[in-house]
Amino acid sequence: MKDETKCLHAGYSPKNSEPRVLPIVQSTTYVYDSTEEVASVFDEPTKSLIYSRFANPTVMAVEDKIAALEGGVGAMCTTSGQAATLLSLLNICKAGDSFISTSEIYGGSINLFSYTLKRLGIECIYIRRDATDEEIEQAFKPNTKAVFGETIANPALTVLDIERMANIAHKHGVPLIVDNTFATPILCKPFDFGADIIIHSTSKYMDGHAVQVGGVIVDSGNFNWANGNFPEMIEPDESYHGISYTETYGKAAYIIKARMQLMRDFGVYPAAHSAFLLNMGLETLAVRMKQYCENAMIFARYLQSSDLVESVTYPGLESDANYSLAQKYLKGCSGVISFVIKGGRETAMKFMNSLKLASNEVHVADIRTCVLHPASETHRQLSDEQLVAAGIDSGMVRFSVGLENIDDILADIEQAFAAVRENA
Ligand SMILES: *Cc1c(COP(=O)(O)O)cnc(C)c1O
Repeated sequence: MKDETKCLHAGYSPKNSEPRVLPIVQSTTYVYDSTEEVASVFDEPTKSLIYSRFANPTVMAVEDKIAALEGGVGAMCTTSGQAATLLSLLNICKAGDSFISTSEIYGGSINLFSYTLKRLGIECIYIRRDATDEEIEQAFKPNTKAVFGETIANPALTVLDIERMANIAHKHGVPLIVDNTFATPILCKPFDFGADIIIHSTSKYMDGHAVQVGGVIVDSGNFNWANGNFPEMIEPDESYHGISYTETYGKAAYIIKARMQLMRDFGVYPAAHSAFLLNMGLETLAVRMKQYCENAMIFARYLQSSDLVESVTYPGLESDANYSLAQKYLKGCSGVISFVIKGGRETAMKFMNSLKLASNEVHVADIRTCVLHPASETHRQLSDEQLVAAGIDSGMVRFSVGLENIDDILADIEQAFAAVRENA
């Protein structure tokens, strides 16, 4: 099946007389005929359902759809993108370990990596985006367990050189974890370039309608966990009557361990109703992504031609520093554009307050056009130094082009620019 078809059909195929639409199984628990059967479910927890803290039929159908779209062996949904990021790392890092991350990542990930994980004894070693292979290699320590990066960084909009990062990670016997939120599997399939684990905030394009906060972890099944660096993946898990994940589950060891250990213990599993809403978004993901990219390209060119704009960042523009990486890895550059307005922070705010169609909100990748000022909103907790490292200028506006008619989006910008001019 091609992507458009997977979006509609993967994960759920009703049999004779079953509901056409993915049913919402809003039940915390599942019944069995005998205690023996319940006991056997505990022995083989991946065969049947036990409890909706870690598995539910509606959520699992969506997991299968996302795994199919990414080309992975399995997926696990979480209650937020943050939870997906957290569990993707906790599944292979413990106190005393470290991992490497590019510095241009989502602000919430920077908080998690720099403060919360640090408190848990897990160190994040940041690398500059222009670091040479040698510099990245030098960042590795004997306790380094993963490399992390974003396909299209939020909000810096730089493109990760996935193949290069995967090669370096593999040379050191650790997986590459890629946050593919902005690209979605429609625009990029990181597994094709050597990534091992993919995470998403499904709150963004996957849902698209701003109705559910969620996340997902997808396992490529390609990483060799038996290389000596990941004993917890091989050795008997005392908390699961001594099973070895690699021995029992082979290629799906990582994602099954994440569910059986971490989801069981942390319980950040989405409700069936949230998964149902996410599924509705996924059904139209392929068509939506095409239109976001088309609108954003026109919008980016318009901004480039405006004398009020100092610079435009959109990897789809030939002039963009990430253009060649985008050509290699992306089928389109999503609807997210950032630009620096002349006049800095104050002008940026005046511009944003003058918008009528585009809404001022803490969101991105919505079906409706929305706009945000990272320096004073999402990234306000970052120091000036961290802002620069994350690729954020104080006059930077992050624009998330929606699916309105592009003429209406441009008209809105024009009247906001006019208001800025009047003010000047
Ligand atoms: C929003 C976002 C997250 C966090 O996801 P939530 O669903 O908000 O928890 C992680 N990574 C990226 C790239 C994001 O844009």
